[in-house]
Amino acid sequence: MPGCIFCKIAQGEVQSDIIREDDQAMAFRDVNSQAPTHILIIPKKHIPTLAEASEQEGGLLGHLLLMARQVAEDQNLTDGYRVVLNNGVAAGQTVFHIHLHLMGGRTFDWPPG
Ligand code: AMP
Repeated sequence: MPGCIFCKIAQGEVQSDIIREDDQAMAFRDVNSQAPTHILIIPKKHIPTLAEASEQEGGLLGHLLLMARQVAEDQNLTDGYRVVLNNGVAAGQTVFHIHLHLMGGRTFDWPPG
């Protein structure tokens, strides 16, 4: 999608600190880290929001979760970690290319702010 920063990262047009990558997805460090470990997991395919994902994209969404789990293992987040998906402006979504936040290395409050 022209103008989408995460599409540009997925296509290698914008540099990022890549942690893991396969044919469907990519994990890279968040530039504005909110935890000692803060990694974003994105599909290479442009899907703006969870609300706009189709039934046919269910496998891809599951793939993102499994990549988050694999990265958490690789990063030794043995005390636990949080996976967040912000859907829409009111939820705090600022980049409209679906992504998971994987955060760890500290404790987290509940409910989140
Ligand atoms: P959200 O608010 O859920 O849409 O999260 C978007 C996240 O993307 C924020 O945590 C930003 O810090 C992060 N972000 C934006 N641009 C970049 C970039 N070029 N590289 C890495 N992370 C980014």
